[in-house]
Amino acid sequence: MTAVESRLARNLHAVNERLRAACLRAGRPVSDVTLIAVTKYAELDWVRALVDLGVHHLGESRPQQLAARVEALAPAPLTWHMIGHLQRNKARRTLQSATWIHSVDSLRLLETLDQLAGELSVEPKLLVEVNLSGEATKGGFSADELRRSWPQICAVRNVRIDGLMTMAALSDDPEEARPTFAGLRQLRDELLHLSPQGWTLGELSMGMTNDFEVAIEEGATFVRIGSALFEGLESAATS
Ligand SMILES: *Cc1c(COP(=O)(O)O)cnc(C)c1O
Repeated sequence: MTAVESRLARNLHAVNERLRAACLRAGRPVSDVTLIAVTKYAELDWVRALVDLGVHHLGESRPQQLAARVEALAPAPLTWHMIGHLQRNKARRTLQSATWIHSVDSLRLLETLDQLAGELSVEPKLLVEVNLSGEATKGGFSADELRRSWPQICAVRNVRIDGLMTMAALSDDPEEARPTFAGLRQLRDELLHLSPQGWTLGELSMGMTNDFEVAIEEGATFVRIGSALFEGLESAATS
C-alpha cells in the first residue's frame, strides 16, 4: 500500500466511524445515510484510490471537472453528484454526467433542466438548494421564496424534486448549524403536503466535514464530505 492509500484508508475509516456513531445517537440505521466524497480539491489519483476503497458516490462542484472525471473514471460503477452552482448553459452537459443535482437554485434553472431532461430522455434526481443561513454569498432559495415558488416548481413536466439541500454557516461550533438543519427538515415536511402525488422529498442533503454529525441527528440522508477524507494527502503524496 502506498502512503496515499494508507492515509486515505485511515481518513475514510475515521469518517465512517463518526457517521456510524451519529446514526447510533440518532437511532437511525447507517444505511439511511449516504456518504458523498466531495472531490473538488482532490487529485485524480486520490479519487481513484478512494473508489478502490469502496466509495461510489462522488461529488463535484464544477461542471467541467465533473465531466472530465466521469470520463476519466469510467467504467467504474459510480454515482456522480453535482453540488455546486450550475449555470444554465452548462445544464445539458451536467445532465449527461451527473445522476444527482443538489444545487437547483432558481426557477429558471429548474425549467431548463425540465426541458432538457425531456429532450435527452434522462431522469435526473434533483434537490432544491435552500439558503437558510441568510448569507448573501450562499446560493439557493430563501425559505419564503421557496414557499412562494413551490406551485411553479410543482408544475415541472419531465422531472420531479427528490428533496432539499442546504449549507450551514461556517462556524467552529457544529451546534450552531443545528437550527439550519432542523429548519430544512421542517421546510421539507411543510412542502411535502403541497406536492404532487408520488413526490416524497425523501432526501435531505446537509452536513459537511465540520457539521455532518449534527446533520445526521437532524435527518440528513446525504452528507457531502471533502476535507475529512483528503486531509494529510498532500504530505503523504510527497513523503
Ligand atoms: C466543498 C463542498 C463540500 C465539502 O466541504 P468539506 O468541508 O471539505 O467537507 C460540501 N458541499 C459543498 C456544496 C461544497 O462545495
